[in-house]
Amino acid sequence: MQAAIIRDKQFWIEDIPTPQPGPGQVLVKVLSCGICGSDIHLFNQGPDLVAKAAAAGAPIDDIGTDMVLGHEFVGEIVSFGPETTEALAVGDRVTSVPFLMKDGVVIPIGASKATTGAYAQYLLLTEAALVLVPESMSNDAAALAEPLAIGVHAVAKANAVSTDAALVIGCGPIGLATVAALRMRGVTQIIAADYSNRRRQLAEQMGASRVVNPAEENPYEALQSITATDNIIFECVGLKGLIHEIIVGAPQGSRVVIAGICMEEDLFMPMLAVSKELCLQFVTYYTPEEFAESLQALAEERFNWRPWITGRVNLRGVSDAFEALKDPEQHAKILIEPWS
Ligand SMILES: [Zn+2]
Repeated sequence: MQAAIIRDKQFWIEDIPTPQPGPGQVLVKVLSCGICGSDIHLFNQGPDLVAKAAAAGAPIDDIGTDMVLGHEFVGEIVSFGPETTEALAVGDRVTSVPFLMKDGVVIPIGASKATTGAYAQYLLLTEAALVLVPESMSNDAAALAEPLAIGVHAVAKANAVSTDAALVIGCGPIGLATVAALRMRGVTQIIAADYSNRRRQLAEQMGASRVVNPAEENPYEALQSITATDNIIFECVGLKGLIHEIIVGAPQGSRVVIAGICMEEDLFMPMLAVSKELCLQFVTYYTPEEFAESLQALAEERFNWRPWITGRVNLRGVSDAFEALKDPEQHAKILIEPWS
């Protein structure tokens, strides 16, 4: 099969052996796979991250080189391995949380050398984790289930209710997913802040009630101006210093959810957070139920997901897509279609 392999911070389109499904696994033909911000992080900083994690005493898989990315996928069942139930059929379209069970070990798909990700024509999945994609649902919508689930989880962890007011800092993929998930939960007062015109526009299209350019207006003052039961602030950027900025700007008693992934050591002043009785919640990933809920919400068109997809490429176009994604004015989500 063809796959886009990372080596020396470049993509190489190579023919590699099609994986064979082991016990409990299925082989899936990849129909579409989204490019994630974390893929770009891994591509650019993978080897550095491995070194940092090792220095901190948490050795991780040697990732970021000689591997195949891709964890936001939809595919079609091709064959079943041994010890499977075959509850679904060959040809069924499926997606799954991006984890593969192999020899009793859980392997993150698209973030490990132990299995190939979905920047390839075929992919191994765990049968027990498969979620059937409804027939009426497009591949485009199904490929968004994984990134949307990140937002669904962040909003669930915030215990958001419809009478809350939310401020979403950063309208990249996580911020947009958070805006959509807030709408799904019935929250209507959603302020989205980003320096990029294009991203503010996307946030508006996906359900923000108000957008703010922090260069022109203080987003925390915008939040203060709303009457709500509670205020929730979502950090969806991951930049050093931002948690401190939020603590300084947050209204008394706010809940702060940190979904952005800052890779550096960071500082904030606990005294400020204490005096305001802020609640800080760090979040990652989602539950299988939240993943299924995301797929369902997309199938039911519960928010306008179409503006989220701004481009599509084949495997040879992955390198250019990574380049294009550097410019927030150009793109949000680019899908890879490995058979086109
Ligand atoms: Zn992702």
